[in-house]
Amino acid sequence: MVVVGAGFGGLFAIKALRKAPVDITLINGTAYHLFQPLLYQVATGILSEGEIAPPIREVLKNQDNVDVRLGWVSDIDIEKKVVAVSGPGIDYTVEYDTLIVAAGASQSYFGNDQFADHAPGMKSIDDALELRARIFGAFEVADLHTDPETIQRWLTFVVVGAGPTGTELAGQIAELAHRTLPGQYKHIDPRKARIILVDAIGAVLNTFGDHLSAGAQRQLEKLGVEVKLNTKVVGVDSTGIEVEDANGRHTIPSITKVWAAGVAAPPLARKLAEAAGAKTDRAGRVFVEKDTTLPGHPEIFVLGDMMNLAGEDGKPLPGVAQVAIQSGRHAADQIKRRLSGKETGQPFKYFDKGSLATISRFSAVASIGKVHLSGFLAWVVWVAVHLFYLVGFKNRVTAVLHWAVSFIGRGRSERVATQQQAFARRAIRAYGDPFERERAEAVTAHKKELLDNAAPAEKQPATATPEREPLSVRE
Ligand SMILES: Cc1cc2nc3c(=O)[nH]c(=O)nc-3n(C[C@H](O)[C@H](O)[C@H](O)COP(=O)(O)OP(=O)(O)OC[C@H]3O[C@@H](n4cnc5c(N)ncnc54)[C@H](O)[C@@H]3O)c2cc1C
Repeated sequence: MVVVGAGFGGLFAIKALRKAPVDITLINGTAYHLFQPLLYQVATGILSEGEIAPPIREVLKNQDNVDVRLGWVSDIDIEKKVVAVSGPGIDYTVEYDTLIVAAGASQSYFGNDQFADHAPGMKSIDDALELRARIFGAFEVADLHTDPETIQRWLTFVVVGAGPTGTELAGQIAELAHRTLPGQYKHIDPRKARIILVDAIGAVLNTFGDHLSAGAQRQLEKLGVEVKLNTKVVGVDSTGIEVEDANGRHTIPSITKVWAAGVAAPPLARKLAEAAGAKTDRAGRVFVEKDTTLPGHPEIFVLGDMMNLAGEDGKPLPGVAQVAIQSGRHAADQIKRRLSGKETGQPFKYFDKGSLATISRFSAVASIGKVHLSGFLAWVVWVAVHLFYLVGFKNRVTAVLHWAVSFIGRGRSERVATQQQAFARRAIRAYGDPFERERAEAVTAHKKELLDNAAPAEKQPATATPEREPLSVRE
């Protein structure tokens, strides 16, 4: 079988198949498993990227029935049962009998992809490291300026999206400005930083219910975060962000903006759905059967953030780690049943274990069934749950140490940000895919060599019309 994606869905399915008589090929776009819920702590210098992204090979080193392969699955031929993969500088295919697709979700700018240049999202390690460079870099640059307006522009941080990611990130930038950085700059007072949390809807953490939502907003405001609700972002550029609220449109001058507002399924979801004649929702998620298989294809499971499956309340299951983990285990169970000749097709039943979000150190909100917690107790639950699901003993130990540094002390262990982290995204866009570029350069060099070595009579005059089109990059 082939598993696409080593996130929560793919990884937990594979682990549940540890003793099953299957040969698994796991294909993932990166060599590591990413614990996305703690990305904001990498962006704000609390944790290192390694602590939340263990190598997949290490995680699965004791599981002999898995072959881990690097690459992005670009297409799936569901008739021939083959997946096409683009690896770094090498394309390949893998055949399957059973397929699990758990490729997660990507950032959505709701049709305004141009915002991404100036307001990066937070979906990957690259995003988090770029944000770290931008956040810490903003304080450094502000310290160099003398014009008060320019300083304030550098010291204004706007986070778009007041869901768990945006709330946690805004809380941590506020702690950075008020607890960690004061006293470390001679020319600016980091406490003067403005941290603005913007959302088009009328509540912070709206899925947590009115009571916890209001509590979270109060805690954020106590930290110094300006919460602007019912405020829609209509424009973003390098120097500011334009918003629309009850008073009309206005611009907030700000260099550092972060997009934590929307998600959409990756293009692979749509391709898969089209191939099978299945439907997708507005976010591109695939409508699956009750057992999480693709309609008409009991051999293909679509899991986690990529699937649209109604829960008991009739609403689509949320894009959270528990849905991915439990759907992964359900798919593994179905595969094991099939292998042992038992009946399959049992519906996936999601058990909601609750929701958690931190606001700042020692302060969180938790909604677990009918129990609603806010403040320190919720924070203790948050620490316990995140340690439990963080993969790898080593990572758990170092995460606890770094949390002690940041939450009991005032430090941040991971403040290093390199120039490459700050600018690589733009540089790569301008330069192109490095592997493709090197291939093109090699072709050009080879053509030149052929021309240089050709006998004089064979050489074309400089003005001659070429007999064939120039070689394409692929050639
Ligand atoms: C910043 C952030 C904070 C979050 N906080 C929380 C939280 O506090 N609590 C919570 O429950 N949930 C949280 N979530 C959501 C949670 O992380 C997701 O619901 C969960 O990761 C979904 O699991 P998945 O397996 O479907 O996808 P993912 O975990 O996203 O894994 C997808 C995997 O597929 C790989 N991939 C993607 N496309 C391809 C391709 N074409 N070919 C090969 N590989 C591919 C990716 O590299 C990745 O490894 C958060 C998400 C983010 C981004």
